[in-house]
Amino acid sequence: MKTIKDKQGKTIITYIEGDGIGPEVMSAARKIIDETNAKISWEPCVAGKKVFEQGNQSGVPQETIDSIKKNGVVFKGPLETPVGFGQNSANVTLRKLFETYANIRPVRELPSVITPFSGRNIDLVIVRENVEDLYAGIEYMQTPGVAESLKLITRKGCEKIVRLAFEFAISEGRKKVHCATKANIMKLSEGLLKKTFESVASRYPEIEAKHIIIDNCAHQLVRFPEEFDVIVTTNMNGDILSDLTSGLIGGLGFAPSANIGKEAAMFEAVHGSAPDIAGKNIVNPTAVILAGVMMLRHIGELEAADQIQQSILFTLEQGIYTSDVNKTNAVSTTEFTKAVINNLGKKPKGWVDRETKQMRMPEIKNEIAFVKAQTRRCLGFDIFLESGSNAAEIGSMLKEMTKDSALTLKMISNRGTKVYPDMGAYTDCIDHWRCRFVAKDPSSNVQSDDITELTKSLSSKFEWMHIEKLWEFDGERSFSLSQGED
Ligand code: NAP
Repeated sequence: MKTIKDKQGKTIITYIEGDGIGPEVMSAARKIIDETNAKISWEPCVAGKKVFEQGNQSGVPQETIDSIKKNGVVFKGPLETPVGFGQNSANVTLRKLFETYANIRPVRELPSVITPFSGRNIDLVIVRENVEDLYAGIEYMQTPGVAESLKLITRKGCEKIVRLAFEFAISEGRKKVHCATKANIMKLSEGLLKKTFESVASRYPEIEAKHIIIDNCAHQLVRFPEEFDVIVTTNMNGDILSDLTSGLIGGLGFAPSANIGKEAAMFEAVHGSAPDIAGKNIVNPTAVILAGVMMLRHIGELEAADQIQQSILFTLEQGIYTSDVNKTNAVSTTEFTKAVINNLGKKPKGWVDRETKQMRMPEIKNEIAFVKAQTRRCLGFDIFLESGSNAAEIGSMLKEMTKDSALTLKMISNRGTKVYPDMGAYTDCIDHWRCRFVAKDPSSNVQSDDITELTKSLSSKFEWMHIEKLWEFDGERSFSLSQGED
């Protein structure tokens, strides 16, 4: 993993203070790190709200991109997408630009932070896929009343995150990896993570590998959190689940994270810019300080990392808390920071450090065509139409149009439910129809020309917005059926 040093041998870190509570928590963490012997040279950069407000639609200026590309390590505060500026989250943009495909979010019970789960020995890590899924941000209004968000999951992305989760488990001496998905419903997209997990798991026989449905995972996490060790999951699921796990150990104020890729690593808190509590000197800086500890370990400053972690724990053991933990005797952010600095070098009582080894980054072949099918056949296509007519009317018009085509209308669905041929169900239809055409000869391979020809004649009668081919890869149907379709 990349790091670079300046002439004095200090590791250069791109430093982004962020928005909202960012400047308060980042300044706390930086002051503490600067009090240790860690050899660090900070390179301040900007991203987020200020950048959007200056008219940059991405929220990330070129100078920041260049700095990260050069340094490979980022320490950052939370970034806000102000309403009315920009299109995408600057945070997601940074993660995607630098392909930091893994988001590692550890939570471990802090003995002196009392929660309903105290004494349960919670010590788990969410490994969240960080660049794919609904976070690809590919969205369309298909009609004035229908929004679409593409959930793209790739075999390559799954393999990277699953292998990283196993490698991470080994580096931390952990015994179990759960893969949490919604593969029971989204059999192809979420199912791809499950399938990849099951094939990769056999290469790590020393680790117990288990699949769990994501909703049950959330349930089990609240009932038996001590049963979990490492959980690998898709981007959206990981986002939600990791806020939940932060709650188990005292809240977002205690949850650090690392965004890891082959070329760059970014360290930050799980929490956002929390504008409601910004500027009041009341926020808990622990999450970002612990993210700093993860960063120090990443760049090999192990002594400073241990020292800061121990000081944080010692400070909490002294009963020094910000108001998110204890409203009555709370200290301010700056008082908490001073206490941590004063306690550097002191050791907490109730804590045993985990022995960790350098993690091996998975080597994944760098090919564009990551998966090649031996055989492929096109069985037909789906076309999405906008129409105020009902299913029976659309069905009979389409049937008429396919008279001389190589394709025939198999069914029409509305929001995923088959409505033509009529099944007598209660579907609350809207003006957005998916019409499925398949080859009249079921053994044939539908040609693009057949699709184009039929689409042309459809265009004279209907407004259409989207086409999907119905593939069979290596003899396997590679599209889902509608509810009610057989
Ligand atoms: P949030 O900023 O994470 O804050 C949610 C709540 O958690 C806060 O209102 C506060 O609750 C509590 N909290 C968070 N951090 C805390 C801390 N350090 N100390 C004490 N309490 C803390 O979530 P949000 O309000 O949904 O998001 C605000 C903005 O941040 C959005 O623009 C979002 O897009 C952005 N965001 C950025 C990142 C990132 O850059 N990595 C991540 C998430 C969200 P109480 O005071 O009510 O207890």
